[in-house]
Amino acid sequence: AGPGAATLGFGATISAARARWLACDGGITRIVLGPEGQPLDVGRTHRVVPRHLRRAVEARDGGCVFAGCHAPAHWCDVHHLVHWADGGETSLENSGLLCERH
Ligand SMILES: [Zn+2]
Repeated sequence: AGPGAATLGFGATISAARARWLACDGGITRIVLGPEGQPLDVGRTHRVVPRHLRRAVEARDGGCVFAGCHAPAHWCDVHHLVHWADGGETSLENSGLLCERH
């Protein structure tokens, strides 16, 4: 909870940190609302980490890149090293495999 918190589709409130973590491996759809709350523009859903990029990151990293962790690639998600919300690009250079623990 707090000023940076987000609300999930079913009403649960999550922290800003958790929202950033989910956004790193999710899909993003821009929805522009009018003054009465009606949707004016529903943009295309954009997969943040496309499949071909995940395969490239898996080939490079092999598994979780956190120091001392040996979690295999299939336990990991691709995350932005410089977070997308902070201007980080969705690119091989700015991506790394991290297990859910890290
Ligand atoms: Zn790990």
